[in-house]
Amino acid sequence: MKTPSTIWDYAPAPESTKVEIKPQYGLFIDGAFREPRSGCSIETINPATEVSLSRISEADAIDVNLAVVAARKALKNWRRAPALERAKYLYRIARRIQERARELAVLETMDNGKPIRESRDEDVPQSAAHFFHHAGWCDKLKWACPTANGSAPEPIGVCGQIIPWNFPLMMAAWKIAPALACGNTVVLKPAETTSLTALRLAEILQEIDLPPGVVNIITGAGETGRELVAHGDVDKIAFTGSTDVGRAIASTVAGTKKRLTLELGGKSPNIIFADAAIDQAVEGIVSSIWANQGQVCCAGSRLLVEESVADEVIEKLRMRMRSLRVGDPLDKNTDIGAINSRAQLDRIESFIKIGVAEGAQRHEVSDVVLPPKGFWCKPCFFTEVQPAHTIAREEIFGPVLAVMTFRTPDEAVARANNTMYGLSAGIWTSRGSKAYEVARQIKAGVVWCNTFNQFDPAAPFGGYRESGFGREGGRSGLSAYCA
Ligand code: NAP
Ligand code: MG
Repeated sequence: MKTPSTIWDYAPAPESTKVEIKPQYGLFIDGAFREPRSGCSIETINPATEVSLSRISEADAIDVNLAVVAARKALKNWRRAPALERAKYLYRIARRIQERARELAVLETMDNGKPIRESRDEDVPQSAAHFFHHAGWCDKLKWACPTANGSAPEPIGVCGQIIPWNFPLMMAAWKIAPALACGNTVVLKPAETTSLTALRLAEILQEIDLPPGVVNIITGAGETGRELVAHGDVDKIAFTGSTDVGRAIASTVAGTKKRLTLELGGKSPNIIFADAAIDQAVEGIVSSIWANQGQVCCAGSRLLVEESVADEVIEKLRMRMRSLRVGDPLDKNTDIGAINSRAQLDRIESFIKIGVAEGAQRHEVSDVVLPPKGFWCKPCFFTEVQPAHTIAREEIFGPVLAVMTFRTPDEAVARANNTMYGLSAGIWTSRGSKAYEVARQIKAGVVWCNTFNQFDPAAPFGGYRESGFGREGGRSGLSAYCA
């Protein structure tokens, strides 16, 4: 049988790639781009074509120190700036992101591999929304995070922020906006494979005349992040990434005065009850595990289906999976783009092999034609999965879903909580009381009911257990940046 894509033969709808990309980028320190002291740089490629896009600088310990010194110097005025003055800058950043939205979306898709539909409709608007939202909090901090004497809270100081490659611009916005709103200054390290939109954000910060040193953006590999974490004059580390690196950071920070928030991995359950609207639930499964090629920390990567509707859900999911268009991320029709790096693709493929070897049954669309170059993984799901299987326990961070069944709400809750993680969960039911009862018992930072992967700057996001601690968004997110 042919896939729908070959039956319907969509005309390609590629987005124009006309965005300026410099051959090399410096480090953004104290309001200006500078050469790294070591002269070292890293190539950043388009994972959908393996074509080189640019080179980013590698900051060493001395560069990291320069950035921290700049942030410390800027803190003096920034923390004392009138709240409305800080708000003015945050509004300006938000508006400039909107004005340069197309360019940012194209750049994000080229550097990361995600479909343009997602970078255009999710990443970039969410990034602007975070700056807008936090601009509004600047003069309301004494209500948001009241102190004992009723005055506005003090900022923590210089914040080192380290972000991953799955939502590069959005993660930068989630980190920078609350920090600045509360009067902190920032040294941000983006992931080495996806630094281009953070560097474009640095250009925006120059355009809107943000005082030098308030935000510094230093690129580099893991070593640059390690130097930032270990720096003696950083007051807080905010990290999003893998649980292993989070653990290493926690041990470096332990015993120091540094504050720490960690947003780590997940293996989140998506629970479908028999009384759910099944078609909508299937759409929810699609967005929970196949958005951004499944490279989402809160992806609903464990599907728990009530046994009586399991056959129906699996059949509908199989049909829906056939309709997903895998390929050129810059094509506006594309649903599944490229995996961010060769290393991540290897990691996903090794999990798929383990899943098959452990006896689970893999379902995928066999006749998808993948582009000749680039890092591609077809969406798939596994049935016959046991809770002890590796693919049911470990975070894969790819378009791979493990499907299991349950018979009662109690069993659903027990299976959902049978994980070392606790980032998110989804519940699909037409009964409000059941949604409430089950949500109450799930150990996860976010529980979505009859939806999945919905984000809002006002809604706190974060984890329990090995998914980390601390919240981003809303008042809880602000309090993580107040002393
Ligand atoms: P990662 O290694 O944890 O990287 C996250 C960030 O930390 C990157 O900026 C990274 O720099 C930096 N980093 C690496 N080692 C560091 C160290 N020792 N000290 C300080 N910073 C350090 O995650 P990844 O390599 O991007 O992805 C690996 C796995 O992490 C994924 O397969 C997935 O399971 C998980 N992950 C989770 C999230 C999430 O949102 N929770 C996001 C992405 C990945 P470089 O990129 O330059 O190495
Ligand atoms: Mg790249």
